[in-house]
Amino acid sequence: MNDDWECVVVGGGAAGLSAALVLGRARRRTLLVDAGEPSNSAAPAIGGLLGHDGRPPAELYELGRRELAHYPSVRYREGEVVSGTSVGDRFLLKLDDGEQVSARRVLLATGMRYCPPDLPGLDPLWGKSVFQCPFCHGWEMRDKRLATLAAGEEAVHSALMLRGWSDDVVLLTDGATELDADGRRRLAAANVTVDDRRVVELVGDGGQLTAVAFADGDRLPRDGLLVEAPLRQRSALAQQLGAACGEGPLAPDTVAVDALHRTSAAAVFAAGDLCAEQPYVAGAIAAGSQTAMIVAQSLLADEFGLPYPPDGD
Ligand SMILES: Cc1cc2nc3c(=O)[nH]c(=O)nc-3n(C[C@H](O)[C@H](O)[C@H](O)COP(=O)(O)OP(=O)(O)OC[C@H]3O[C@@H](n4cnc5c(N)ncnc54)[C@H](O)[C@@H]3O)c2cc1C
Repeated sequence: MNDDWECVVVGGGAAGLSAALVLGRARRRTLLVDAGEPSNSAAPAIGGLLGHDGRPPAELYELGRRELAHYPSVRYREGEVVSGTSVGDRFLLKLDDGEQVSARRVLLATGMRYCPPDLPGLDPLWGKSVFQCPFCHGWEMRDKRLATLAAGEEAVHSALMLRGWSDDVVLLTDGATELDADGRRRLAAANVTVDDRRVVELVGDGGQLTAVAFADGDRLPRDGLLVEAPLRQRSALAQQLGAACGEGPLAPDTVAVDALHRTSAAAVFAAGDLCAEQPYVAGAIAAGSQTAMIVAQSLLADEFGLPYPPDGD
């Protein structure tokens, strides 16, 4: 089967759903393909999203999909886009079930893979009591016994940041970081304890961290742990479509976009974590919405000569 769409949105998390909604309202024939693994699915609730603060992520995405159903030009489809290529003025995208679709525009909203440390015991705690962003999880962790596991220059920053939510913060350097005198002085002034022992395991129960275990056999009781979780692209789709990736503040392979969310490949756009400077749901929703408006205007430019880009750049 070969379906021709005005826009294919790849990824149906916060950014992709938001984009498809705006494209539907702009009466654009839009296919949204989603592999169904939004990055925050391990978390019990979304923190800090106006109107949905504390809502389970799956509920938000279900609400979004229900809203899309009102717009007849939008089709939502479960699946994964496994490859893409540009052919003339179209893109050909191949799905995991072998279906091929073509599109005049592609909007990438595939999110990012978060890579927390590879520590025994971490998986069942991830997104619950082990987290990567104090603004997302800090409120639920307020006044608890917290620790941060961080290396290099980030270590002091991370520990001082966490102090905003609790008076009881331990910095775990895992024996990997030599803190300089200035860092140690600032940590001491903020009443942050430094523990340099090697961390070997996280101990928890039902998603709740109870202790950090060290190589010497000792355990430190803790309720929450902030970790570094670098981001990585989930697939090579952007590169296959000709969109350049480069060093960003959060990942070495961030999709490069301009202020209008255009990638370096003509007619390929990107929104959300895969090109973000800061990953959060409200930002992804806003980016998806903005990008869809630009996509719609680029199609109107083809059809009716609407000035594009809108600011004349
Ligand atoms: C554990 C955790 C908790 C978080 N908690 C919060 C919070 O409380 N508040 C907050 O503001 N932010 C939070 N964040 C950050 C937030 O989840 C992200 O910034 C946001 O989800 C990014 O949205 P997105 O649409 O770009 O990507 P995602 O939500 O990750 O969605 C991308 C979608 O694209 C799909 N996809 C990927 N590749 C393909 C493909 N080739 N074909 C088809 N589909 C594909 C994926 O399966 C996924 O469904 C959290 C992040 C994590 C990891």
